[in-house]
Amino acid sequence: TPSLYVVATPMGNLQDITLRALAVLTAVDVVAAEDTRHTQQLLAAHGIAAHLMAAHEHNEQKAATQIIARLEAGEQVAFVSDAGTPGISDPGARLVARVREAGWPVVPVPGPSAVAAAVSVAGLEHGGFHFIGFLPSKRAARRARLEALRGQADALVFYESPHRIIECVADLAEVLGPARELVVARELTKRFEQIERLPLGEADAWFAADANRQRGEFVLIVTGAPPETGLSAEAERVLGLLLEAVP
Ligand code: SAM
Repeated sequence: TPSLYVVATPMGNLQDITLRALAVLTAVDVVAAEDTRHTQQLLAAHGIAAHLMAAHEHNEQKAATQIIARLEAGEQVAFVSDAGTPGISDPGARLVARVREAGWPVVPVPGPSAVAAAVSVAGLEHGGFHFIGFLPSKRAARRARLEALRGQADALVFYESPHRIIECVADLAEVLGPARELVVARELTKRFEQIERLPLGEADAWFAADANRQRGEFVLIVTGAPPETGLSAEAERVLGLLLEAVP
């Protein structure tokens, strides 16, 4: 049966692609891509000559209509985003919903995702995590979102770009408190990959110490809220400041 294959692709290292993903990308009649030029390079690196079409945030409805027409014509279709797994802080949700509604199978072809890679090396003792993705870009909205997440016992996983990394980390420390641990997973699978775990209260200084640490792509993980102490938020904040001041 004609199907839509949702295929994960590398997020840096071109070898991070599964054998099945390569087979599917080779076999399908068309590869719908978030950025056709970007995907063209990936396919070329693996010696795959595929027919490409654009399917991104701004034409998702139109692309969905075209893809459904192709499925009706008996064609097999793959969908890829620029990096990692489609639908995870990436386009794909509306396309997948439309294709399912039209009655065609939607088949995952799993592989890399920055969230899974970062969690795999974070050493989260309690295991549970809450994936947030990108925080709002405006400071007030970002802080409000963090306030709402402050009591979560699970670790929090964020995506962030180099443009906002400093502001974002400052807000994490202020709203979630200096004592919780931050895992910075930077440039995963790439040449300058870096994974660092440190208290939120030390994060500002760590980023300031070397401008290179502010470059590239980031996953940020903050360990979960400690169990309730019965103290008020204000008392917790003051206690945190006092503890920081103790030599
Ligand atoms: N769909 C992708 C996935 O499955 O991870 C995420 C796409 S989202 C538009 C891009 C964000 O993912 C980046 O801003 C960064 O937060 C994270 N990311 C992607 N590649 C990364 C990498 N190699 N290292 C660290 N973070 C990465």
